[in-house]
Amino acid sequence: MSVEETPKSSNFIRDIIDADLASGKHSEIVTRFPPEPNGYLHVGHAKSICLNFGLARDYNGRCHLRFDDTNPTKEEQEYIDAIKEDVKWLGFDWGKHEYYASNYFEQLFDWAILLINEGKAYVDDQTADEIRSNRGTLTEPGKNSPCRNRSVEENLDLFMRMKNGEFKNGERVLRAKIDMTAPNMNMRDPVLYRILHAEHPRTGAKWCIYPMYDFTHGQSDAIEHISHSICTLEFQDHRPLYDWFIENIPVPAKPHQYEFARLNLTYTVMSKRKLLRLVQEKKVSGWNDPRMPTISGMRRRGYPASALREFCDRIGVAKANSTVEFALLENCVRDELNRNALRFMAVLRPLKLVITNYPADHVEVFDADNNPEDPTAGTRKVAFTRELYIESEDFMENPPKKYFRLSPGAEVRLKHAYYVTCRNVVKDAAGNVSEIHCEYDPESRGGASPDGRRVKGTLHWVSASLGRKAEIRIYNHLFNQENPDKVEEGEDFIDRISPDSLEVLSDSVVEPALADAALGAPLQFLRMGYFCKDPDSTGDNLVFNRTVSLKDGWAKVQKNQPD
Ligand code: ATP
Ligand code: MG
Repeated sequence: MSVEETPKSSNFIRDIIDADLASGKHSEIVTRFPPEPNGYLHVGHAKSICLNFGLARDYNGRCHLRFDDTNPTKEEQEYIDAIKEDVKWLGFDWGKHEYYASNYFEQLFDWAILLINEGKAYVDDQTADEIRSNRGTLTEPGKNSPCRNRSVEENLDLFMRMKNGEFKNGERVLRAKIDMTAPNMNMRDPVLYRILHAEHPRTGAKWCIYPMYDFTHGQSDAIEHISHSICTLEFQDHRPLYDWFIENIPVPAKPHQYEFARLNLTYTVMSKRKLLRLVQEKKVSGWNDPRMPTISGMRRRGYPASALREFCDRIGVAKANSTVEFALLENCVRDELNRNALRFMAVLRPLKLVITNYPADHVEVFDADNNPEDPTAGTRKVAFTRELYIESEDFMENPPKKYFRLSPGAEVRLKHAYYVTCRNVVKDAAGNVSEIHCEYDPESRGGASPDGRRVKGTLHWVSASLGRKAEIRIYNHLFNQENPDKVEEGEDFIDRISPDSLEVLSDSVVEPALADAALGAPLQFLRMGYFCKDPDSTGDNLVFNRTVSLKDGWAKVQKNQPD
């Protein structure tokens, strides 16, 4: 089934929305994508973006982009800018609905005061360690803080002094007074505010106390009249707390939270904390290293936005966690590129081929189709000369049976050009093949059979004198294990980085037309895979990334098994 024909898959959230619209509970669908600006977005976020923006699009509603920026020590403007760029690139538009939880700091502070006034929040002097150890465990109840029964007046006074900067980081917190024996740990007097003497990217030095994420998230949804607050499963246990806030605070709306399973992919890690380590420890070249599962890495690698959207649609939205095969993502990328990528010839590992019966200074120009899948893509000119490069793996001196490429005495077709027969092999001092000498059949011009005689192999090639040198970067899985996250005691996921994750070919040769390829435009190098020009290209220095191989590597392995 082609991408266009794929129906937008239904899911349990769409069912809920349909029911809410039918019952009149909601008349307008408002969703939001709420990133914390503490890293670049990854493909898991793409799932959430496609879900939230997709619902808004399909139900004629709207989707907000809201930065949940409650932790100034980890958040940066760079991340805000990158997140906006990635969401736009994925094809979604939040219009004027760009919001920041930090815009609600004043309101959240007032609500904290209100909770204190109602005896539902108190200032705790315990240290973080004491709070942690008095919180109890899943099997044991927590212990009440000695500060739990402070008077409203004292709490108000202390909280104001926290706000006014009288205390150091960690000296006091504001907590909700709920129930230290609640089976759900999130309900055991959760912290609402902490002291952080840190400048915030948006509010500057205005605050030295910051609301906790949990005290911010649900209320922000309420302020924005989000009709369906959609988040990942790990927040399921937080829902009773969010509901408690919504019940105990005079919020303007009461959004309901729905949880779905987060995306996990084989051979990769997907937590921003781990991705940040890869960047900080220089295991990759940056957040947009093409091996990263980040949206910016995938963009740089040449994954089309439409392929990511298609992938998110194919994996669907469920309530049970699972891990998706990386190969599925690659197949979405291939399907898309097969339809859109312009075809070119590039020789990754060159071997010189000399056509001894071809005039030395002659240049012949052939027409080559740009995309056999798309007749409107037109043709381009490729120049043919006496000396060419072919792929070194396309020649074998002592070939096994059924090797249909070039070997002594064998005849092959050079794509778009001529039939050639290998007559001689030149070796260097070390005994390695350095040149192949061939004769061409002038009657086979354009690659047509001269007399009905057939050849089985068709090779790509690049003119040695007119081709351009290029660096080609081949990417493999960043990790050498399917589940790099699953570590035993004493192991570190970072040690599972595959030494083969990046292979740099610096002697490649490409068709001259590729010098003008636009950055990121989808290209197919015949027989070698899909590629795109990398932003590291400068002037004469051409760099291409391999986006994905032509065929599924695993399928190929299976096909080559003896029958
Ligand atoms: P991470 O765990 O990778 O650090 P996060 O949950 O801290 O991610 P946020 O910026 O809080 O990152 O995420 C923004 C939104 O994206 C949230 O609604 C979150 O539930 C969703 N999200 C994050 N990771 C995934 C994932 N792997 N699959 C689907 N949705 C995700
Ligand atoms: Mg989060």
